[in-house]
Amino acid sequence: MAQSIRKVGIIGAGQMGNGIAHVCALAGFPVLLNDVAPDRIKDALATINGNMARQVAKKIITEDQRKEALALIEGAEKIENLADCDLVIESAVEKEEIKRKIFSALCPILKADAIVATNTSSISITRLASATDRPEKFIGIHFMNPVPLMELVELIRGIATGDPTFEASKEFVKRLGKTIAVSEDFPAFIVNRILLPMINEAIYTLYEGVGTVESIDTAMRLGAHHPMGPLELADFIGLDTCLSVMQVLYEGLADSKYRPCPLLVKYVEAGWLGRKTKRGFYDYRGEKPVPTR
Ligand code: NAD
Repeated sequence: MAQSIRKVGIIGAGQMGNGIAHVCALAGFPVLLNDVAPDRIKDALATINGNMARQVAKKIITEDQRKEALALIEGAEKIENLADCDLVIESAVEKEEIKRKIFSALCPILKADAIVATNTSSISITRLASATDRPEKFIGIHFMNPVPLMELVELIRGIATGDPTFEASKEFVKRLGKTIAVSEDFPAFIVNRILLPMINEAIYTLYEGVGTVESIDTAMRLGAHHPMGPLELADFIGLDTCLSVMQVLYEGLADSKYRPCPLLVKYVEAGWLGRKTKRGFYDYRGEKPVPTR
């Protein structure tokens, strides 16, 4: 029988962290949600409340389920509060040094058999595992955005990930009601290896003046039946996250076809990171999104 996971810790209460807390609580797991910024924890709890209320209105869950789930989520201002978790999922910013620092603070306070997972979109699981005291208990559990809506979770084993960790993680993801795609530990795994070069190419298409923001998104929505245009999707993912994934592909696979578009770099330098900063390829400050180019 797979090692049982009862209590879940989440580090990083951003857009992914709050979604992961949401689905864990709805599946009945007590959740501790940590962030360096206490405001982010407060915002995340409010977002989860709002998103669950929307699910009640759409009759996806009942009011009782919402109340029970909300009662299972607790904010944790200190990493030490996660000491009795059976599984901790790191979902902080996509920066390797930050993730490494988190693992060195986290591991000494955890139980010896606790599993440590990362929600990284692109960084090597094997390399991150080496920053922990438990590479055999380390795994990639990669959720998709928005977590409550997306059916898929990628599971990625590092070179040292043990079978019991893999099996327990599989059981955990199944309990969340998600479908698993197993990926080998290569840069950006499966979904982002395919998706991000497509988005980067859309940005090159804009950069080279082949199309406008509007024509590129309309083309892919209506011409390829994508539910969202690639630039709209980039804003949704976060342009800083898009850039980090392209850098990891470019450096990790040493192939110029993954070169991040200079226009993507410029938007990130401007702090125009997409929906989360209210400006990216679209400006979200008014009633309707307006293209910024
Ligand atoms: P985000 O910027 O919305 O949130 C990141 C959070 O991490 C912030 O609240 C920040 O305060 C917090 N943080 C930073 N340093 C920290 C630390 N030392 N300790 C605790 N918290 C810290 O980013 P996000 O989109 O939620 O992404 C989080 C992770 O999920 C990244 O690794 C990203 O690659 C991955 N991911 C993102 C997506 C996506 O579509 N955005 C999809 C799958 C996976």
